Amino acid sequence: MRLDRYYGDLGKSAKAIGLLIAQMQPSACFLGETTWGVTNIVPSQLSPYQGGMTNAAPSARPFHAAALIVAAGRGARMGGDIPKQYQSLLGKPVLSHTIQALGCHPAVAEVIVVHHPDDTALLAASVGDCMVTCVPGGDTRDASVKAGLAALSETAEVVLIHDAARPLVSAQVIDDVLAGLQTHRGAAPGLEVTDALWRGRAIVSNIEPRSNLHRAQTPQGFHISDIRAAHTAFSGSAADDVEVALAHGLDIAITQGDEDNLKLTRPGDFARAERILKARKMIDIRTGNGFDVHRFGPGDHVILAGIRIPHSRALQGHSDADVGLHSVTDAIYGALAKGDIGQHFPPSDPQWKGMQSDVFLTHAVDLAESDGFAITHADLTLICEHPKIGPHSPAMRTELARLLRIDMSRVSVKATTSERLGFTGREEGIAALATVTLVKL
Ligand code: MG
Repeated sequence: MRLDRYYGDLGKSAKAIGLLIAQMQPSACFLGETTWGVTNIVPSQLSPYQGGMTNAAPSARPFHAAALIVAAGRGARMGGDIPKQYQSLLGKPVLSHTIQALGCHPAVAEVIVVHHPDDTALLAASVGDCMVTCVPGGDTRDASVKAGLAALSETAEVVLIHDAARPLVSAQVIDDVLAGLQTHRGAAPGLEVTDALWRGRAIVSNIEPRSNLHRAQTPQGFHISDIRAAHTAFSGSAADDVEVALAHGLDIAITQGDEDNLKLTRPGDFARAERILKARKMIDIRTGNGFDVHRFGPGDHVILAGIRIPHSRALQGHSDADVGLHSVTDAIYGALAKGDIGQHFPPSDPQWKGMQSDVFLTHAVDLAESDGFAITHADLTLICEHPKIGPHSPAMRTELARLLRIDMSRVSVKATTSERLGFTGREEGIAALATVTLVKL
C-alpha cells in the first residue's frame, strides 16, 4: 500500500522545541461528566471534576504514538484550483503545517499521510524532507482511514487521527488526547457549545438544548487494535472516527479543544489561520523610553539612580525626586504600554510624599514580570552640569541592576551636559532620559 517513504528529519531543533513545549505545559485535563451525545464515558474512570480541568496521573507511561493525517479529501467548499490541504498558508502548504504540528510533538514517533492518488506531486511538495509515510486513500473517508491504519508500524500503540485541514493543532491539545488514552479506549478534543441552538430554515421552528453538546475536533486518539477492529466492523459512512469507535462500544473521553484548532473549510478561514500563525511567530520585544525633570532647591544632597550624592542643592519633588529612577520606571511602563508613573503613583496622593523612588521602580519591574516580560537592558542618561556623575556611575549601575533584577552588564548609566544651555545649563534642575528593552518570555 505504501507509495513512498520520505526519509529526512523534521529537524532536531524542531523536535527540541516540541519537547520544550511539552515540558513547559502541564499535562492532561478532562472535562468531567460530558459526553458525545451518546454516553460511553465511564464516570468513575474520569479524573475528578475541578472547574473543568484536572491533571492526569503524572506517572503514566508515555505511549508510542503514531499520527494519521487524513488528506485525501477534495475540499469542495473551499474552492480553488487545488484541494485546500495543499493551498498556501503563510507561504507553505496547509499540509506542511499539519505535518510539522504533529511530527514535532515528542510523543509522535511516526506520521502517516493518507492522500488522494491524483495528488502525488502536491503531496511531495508538502512533505519536503520530513520523515512521513504516504499512503493512497480510498473512495471514502472510512476507506482512507483504514488504509492509513494498515500502514502503521507494529511498534505503534496509539494513533492520533487528524484532519489535514487543521494545521494549527497545539501541543497542549495533543498532550491532552494522549493523556485521555491512559484511562480510556479513545480520547478526542471537543469544545462546549456556548451559543443557543436553533432549528429551522428561514424561521426558527425550535430551540435545541445545548447542554452537554460539544463541537468535535481532531486529533481523535485511539488504541490501535480497538480502532482497527471498529473500522473493520463499521459499515456505512461516519462523520468522524469517534462515531466509528462509538458504534464499536469504545469509551471516548472528551478532552479540552482549542478555538485556534480550526478546520479550514471556507475561504475566510485562511485569513483567520494566518492571523493566528503570525501571532504565534511574533517575537515580542519592547522598547520603552522615559523622561523626567526635577528642579533644584535648598539642600545638601541629591539622590540619583538610588545613590545619595553630596551637593550644594537638592532636587525638589513630591517623592525623593530621583529623576534617574523615575525615568527608568516610566520607560518600563512605556514598554508595557501601561501608563506612566504619575498614573500609578499620583502626586496628589499624600501616601507617596517623601517616598523612596525604588518603590516606584519595583512596582514597574513586578508589573513587567507579571506580564511575562524579562527586562534585558536599561540605559539611563543624566543631563546636568553638576554634580559630576562619572565617579558615581558604577554605584548607580549596581543599584539599578539590583532593582531591575538583572546583571550589571545589562545596565548603563551615563551623563552629559547641555553645554550650559537651557535649564540644565543654568543649573536650575536635572533631566534624565531612559531606554529599556523588554522581551516576552
Ligand atoms: Mg519625577
